[in-house]
Amino acid sequence: MTQYPEVTLAREKGMCYLGIGIITDYDSGFEGRDDIKPVTNSEVLKIFEKNVKTVKDLIHASVPELEKGQKTCGCGKLA
Ligand SMILES: [Zn+2]
Repeated sequence: MTQYPEVTLAREKGMCYLGIGIITDYDSGFEGRDDIKPVTNSEVLKIFEKNVKTVKDLIHASVPELEKGQKTCGCGKLA
């Protein structure tokens, strides 16, 4: 749910860092509202499982690009 402290540690080491998130529901923070139905664990898992292939495809498409080693970002430069 967070990307801290990983992102800070990666920055300190000059490493590229990319967070990938799967949004499973939108009810967080809206507890107690009658117009927003709370989701169940099984509903969250169902959406998560539905999106796992998308994340795998993203990673499989990204790795060959990373292996090219053409780093054009500023991650290795400390501010
Ligand atoms: Zn980078």
